[in-house]
Amino acid sequence: MSEFSPGVQAVIDQATAAAQIVRQHRARVRQRRFDTIAVHGIYNMQEALANQGSIIEPAFFAPAQHFANSDTMEAALAYQIPAWTYSRVANPTLHYLEETLALLEGYGLEAETHATLTSSGMAAVFLATVPFLSIEDGRQMNIVASARCYGGTFQLFSQRYAVERGVEVRWVQDPLNLDDWASKIDDQTRFVFGETPSNPGLSMFDMAGVAELAHAAGIPLIVDPTVATPALMRPLLDGADIIVHSVSKSLSFSGFVIAGAVIAPVNIPSRVGPDELRANFALYCKGFPLRDHGPALSPFNALMALNDLRTLRHRMDFLSVNTLRIAHWLEAHPKVEHVYYPGLSSNAEHEIAQQTMWLVDGDASGQPANRYGHLLSFTLKDGLQAARATFDSFEMIWRGTDLGKVKSVATIPAISTHQQQGESGRSLAAVQPGQIRLSVGAEHPDDILADLEQALSQA
Ligand SMILES: *Cc1c(COP(=O)(O)O)cnc(C)c1O
Repeated sequence: MSEFSPGVQAVIDQATAAAQIVRQHRARVRQRRFDTIAVHGIYNMQEALANQGSIIEPAFFAPAQHFANSDTMEAALAYQIPAWTYSRVANPTLHYLEETLALLEGYGLEAETHATLTSSGMAAVFLATVPFLSIEDGRQMNIVASARCYGGTFQLFSQRYAVERGVEVRWVQDPLNLDDWASKIDDQTRFVFGETPSNPGLSMFDMAGVAELAHAAGIPLIVDPTVATPALMRPLLDGADIIVHSVSKSLSFSGFVIAGAVIAPVNIPSRVGPDELRANFALYCKGFPLRDHGPALSPFNALMALNDLRTLRHRMDFLSVNTLRIAHWLEAHPKVEHVYYPGLSSNAEHEIAQQTMWLVDGDASGQPANRYGHLLSFTLKDGLQAARATFDSFEMIWRGTDLGKVKSVATIPAISTHQQQGESGRSLAAVQPGQIRLSVGAEHPDDILADLEQALSQA
């Protein structure tokens, strides 16, 4: 017997039939190539005809949905029919972007993937981790994370979780050392977290190896591959369970957006939380933690990101090619001490990068091709003062705490993105005092090199 009245049940039955058609279309879209999914997502001709024929996904800016009657409203609010109800929880424009991101991140994966958008990358890191910190039996819980991570993530774990909630944070200082991860995971570990390639040191780790350790303990491996994007790396294929992205970076290249995403396949491992959390983590985040914490994305930002996403693979290809050239040039420069870039054989991460960073669907002739992204960092032989002099002399490369955008931008992480974690936190995270982080934009590489050349001459 249904818990709903016959009227509400009729609405649910009708929606179930309609949802079947949507699922069939999604299954067809999953057979398409990466570029096609990036361009079309799940938006199709039927949906366009229901939206005045709009070829581009329409923007829905209204916070709330109107319902035909009380039966429909009741079914929608019970999460029994596809509906968006209220923009803090769901919105049709966000849905197009969520489906596109879920399909791109899950490209090549057998399991179905789902996504939930958030108002920023940090909100995504928060939503993807906080559900695992539930108090169970009063025993001291811990989390295991690579210390080589974004400054905001470092502060979330070490301040909000460790100081404010009493969670023990076990930092992995040498992510390339699998024993370091293994020795820190025990029966009170709630999740394992790693960023790869990391911001700003481009550090990497053996994802399949760490995933195996996490799974043996019945817990999820959460990965932040923001710097790589799904065009170059899809950690779900290597055993990761949950992906977080700062959509503010390379995914929304034109630079108008702050946004984040949590993406997960169905059926993830966790020793804590309700069954719904394990069954469909992204949907769980949307229905509960997102609803209750409230970091919803604006539909305008979703639309901008959706537009940028369409050309993701092409630009990650040419930006990677240009960045490798710049990395080689910097490495050969007499004033440069070290260049951090996974595409360089001088980096300890190079072998792992060669195994895991591939341009999806291959190069222009369809051949497999390694591509290493458009973020690098470097230190100077004369240290911090020389780094500041170089940094202050840039005439075209912007000085700012930004990355992944159409315009080249540089920062000194120790005085910006990684300032607040202090010297001991930076030393844990292996952030050098005079390290300059450079995000290579879409300018002609000759002009980027010319600016680097003249700036280095001032050091
Ligand atoms: C920027 C960044 C974040 C945080 O994203 P916001 O959108 O700025 O909140 C998280 N992880 C990585 C790797 C980042 O570069």
